[in-house]
Amino acid sequence: MHEQAPHPGALAAPAVQGLERYVPGKPIPELEREYGVHDIIKLASNENPWGMSPVAMAAIQRALPDLWLYPDGGAHALKVALSRHLDVPREWLTIGNGSNDLLMLLAEAFLTNAHSGVYSQYGFAIYPIVIRATGARCLAAPAHAPGTPMPYGHDLAALARAIEPDTRLVFIANPNNPTGTWVGPDALREFIRAAPAHTLVVLDEAYVDYALHDGVPDSLGWVHEFPRLVLLRTFSKAWGLAGLRVGYAVSHPEVADALDRIRPAFNVNSLGQAAAEAALGDTAHVQLVTTQTVAERRRVEAALRALGVPFVPSVANFLLIEVGQDEARGARALNEQLLRAGIIVRPVGGYGLPGHLRVSIGLPEHNDRFLAQLTRLLHKS
Ligand code: PMP
Repeated sequence: MHEQAPHPGALAAPAVQGLERYVPGKPIPELEREYGVHDIIKLASNENPWGMSPVAMAAIQRALPDLWLYPDGGAHALKVALSRHLDVPREWLTIGNGSNDLLMLLAEAFLTNAHSGVYSQYGFAIYPIVIRATGARCLAAPAHAPGTPMPYGHDLAALARAIEPDTRLVFIANPNNPTGTWVGPDALREFIRAAPAHTLVVLDEAYVDYALHDGVPDSLGWVHEFPRLVLLRTFSKAWGLAGLRVGYAVSHPEVADALDRIRPAFNVNSLGQAAAEAALGDTAHVQLVTTQTVAERRRVEAALRALGVPFVPSVANFLLIEVGQDEARGARALNEQLLRAGIIVRPVGGYGLPGHLRVSIGLPEHNDRFLAQLTRLLHKS
């Protein structure tokens, strides 16, 4: 008699067995399938509804006939364009399948079960996943408390205290998702300067294009000064290319070299490379998108104030609104009722924020529809 065979899932690495799944924003076709509703708007994944530059769209069309070929594994043309755009040497650049790919590569390259990774409570949910997946210890620093000027935002002093001798990576999102909160240039620079030599500081600037309007630092220059700083940026947000999956890291060339050793050979597809390269030639488009998004965010903020719905300060393209946990009008109920009305927002109970919803800033007509529906639901007797 054979012994009972283990379930195949039990063969996965112990660290992987213990992982919690990342729950992305509900896709539009899924809501159509599950609820039978149509004319859906998605304000759940901080995408950019203004879309990509027409120049990028044309580049995708030009690249279509060559799709039978593998992409350029070294993403040469995109790196040349980025290097010029950012004014950094090409050797400092790593291109990822979205910045999510780079988060995974960083964890894989710098963490083992003898190490730890640090992130902030209410920080982006992928950080604890990539840390834990390596078997490393995951250390969450407490965030600023509710009621403070930057509620739920990163507390840099607490993050500094959380760093231990075995810490190799510290993740900071500026602005942060799902809160929209940010840290100012002086405090952030001082944090990076004072970080111990045994850890990299990963500064995730997925939303920085929106935040530059509000004085959030463009920290590119800091990479020259601090060899243990890694900047992450993405084409998924203000650049409107979320579906193509392109992000990049700017780092010391030795960090880039480590990432390159474990990077899957063709991690970024040809259409993504072509579109991102072309998009860099149309910064006016990004300027337009971010200006309009910020104006819309301010309009939504004013409407929420008028409705008496509190929200967390944000410099990004989304707002974290506080609706409480009432059975009829709280986050869970509102989310469900909004779904039935064809509006997808993001519940954030998984972040430990069961009384909040995260709402992306959409086109003016999307925001109008969301606000009208929210008003109706909150005033329903
Ligand atoms: N960092 C932050 C803070 C994010 O919010 C996101 C996307 N939600 C990412 C990284 C990953 O984005 P992408 O993989 O599309 O570049």
